[in-house]
Order: sequence, then C-alpha cells, then structure tokens
Amino acid sequence: MLSWQQVHKKFAGKVVAEGLSLQVADGELVAVLGESGSGKSTLLNMAAGLMKPDSGKILINDTDVTLLQPERRRIGLMFQDYALLPHLNVWQNVAFGLRMHGVSKSSARQQAQQLLSEVGLAEAATQPVGVLSGGERQRVALARALVLQPQALLLDEPFSALDTTLRASLQQLTLRLLRHQKCPTVLVTHSPLEAFALADRICLLRYGRWVQQGKVSELLAQPADAWAARLLDCDN
Ligand code: ADP
Ligand code: MG
Repeated sequence: MLSWQQVHKKFAGKVVAEGLSLQVADGELVAVLGESGSGKSTLLNMAAGLMKPDSGKILINDTDVTLLQPERRRIGLMFQDYALLPHLNVWQNVAFGLRMHGVSKSSARQQAQQLLSEVGLAEAATQPVGVLSGGERQRVALARALVLQPQALLLDEPFSALDTTLRASLQQLTLRLLRHQKCPTVLVTHSPLEAFALADRICLLRYGRWVQQGKVSELLAQPADAWAARLLDCDN
C-alpha cells in the first residue's frame, strides 16, 4: 500500500499540493490526470525522494518514505525523457540501482539480463544507450524500474514522447509486467485516453487539489464539474 497523507508543498508561495491524500493498493494502477503545471510530477517526486513535502506523510506499508534517503526507498521510476545514464551501456543502466543497493556485479548483471529478456532487449545488453531508439530506451527504463522488485512504481508520462503505435505496444508491455509485480502504481498523464485504457481508478488534479477520484465509469457518468468534463473529453 502506498499513501500520501495530507501532503502540502509550495514553490515560492505557489501551492502545488494542498493537503493531498491518496491511497493506492497493492496491484492497483491509479492514473493522475491534470493539465500541465497542476502538480502531478511534484506528487511523484516527493514520494521518490527527489523533493521534500513541506508537511504531511508518504507511506509505503507504514514506513514514512519522506524520512528515508532516496537510495533506501525501493521505488521504481519511469519518466517521459527516459533519464538513462548516457555513459553506461544497457545492462549497466538496468543494474545501476541494484549496485547502489549493494548487489554484487555478477548477480546484478544476471538480474538485469533477466529483465532485459522480459522487455525484449536481451540482445542489446552491451550496447551504449545512445544508439537505441526512443521505444527501446523506454523499455530499458521499464526494466530498470522493475529490476529492484519495487514496493511502488511511479510513472511520469512515460509514453508521451512515443508515436501512437509504439505507445500502444509499450503500454501493453508495461501492463503485462505490472501484473506480475503486484505493487501499487501511479501513472501521471495528461491523456484521458491513456488513463481510461490503463487505470483501475482515476484522480483529477487541479492546482494541487483533487477535483474528483473514481473509477473510469463513475467519472464518465458523472464528472464533478464542467472543468472535469472538459479534462475527460478525449476529443479535445
Ligand atoms: P505537472 O507535472 O502537473 O506539469 P509540476 O508538478 O511539474 O506539474 O509543477 C507544478 C508547479 O510547480 C509548476 O508551476 C512548476 O513550475 C512548479 N515547480 C515544479 N518544480 C519546481 C521547482 N523545483 N522549483 C520551483 N517551481 C517548481
Ligand atoms: Mg509533469
């Protein structure tokens, strides 16, 4: 279980999280949908340890992760821009987190190789990441996010930079691998179609506050207000 409890965050007086609470169960995929600048990335970054909340708690199974060093958190991350390490090859990128957690080089390489097989990149293990296509880079990022057997997965618009065909195949691959993982997953997106396709539950974020949370069918049947209806409109 991953939960944000009454989390507040301001940047230079601008509120980006105003007492946000959210609970995500093991095996559940929650999509956070909102316009650019609404505070979606900040919500994930605080859980990942990339920034600190001003107040509130973020719990994984009763441990407040905001009190842990980022490298002590077992959280898988995927970003839109892959954020791979350019000076390391493919398997080294996947193994990096394991090495940081003290896993031996040979064991880390073996585990990385296993994950690379699962994302269909076994053959590319020793290539520099610079020669990979966008879709391949994102598959490396997926392998890297999963290799630590994370207690939670945070996906920040990971499919946005990919073209339509690649996006669909990577979404399916991600869903398939997530089913084995059974950890709580939060997907940040500005695409209602993506949220409908992937999420068990959708939360609408506006200026650091929830406008609505619910299942896809509930939101579509009864958007909270005109803003929510517009955000959920796949044609806009
Ligand atoms: P989203 O991911 O929904 O587009 P973000 O969480 O990235 O939104 O940002 C929310 C707001 O907080 C934006 O106005 C952004 O400019 C601001 N912000 C985010 N990170 C920082 C930072 N490190 N320093 C100052 N302002 C920031
Ligand atoms: Mg963002």
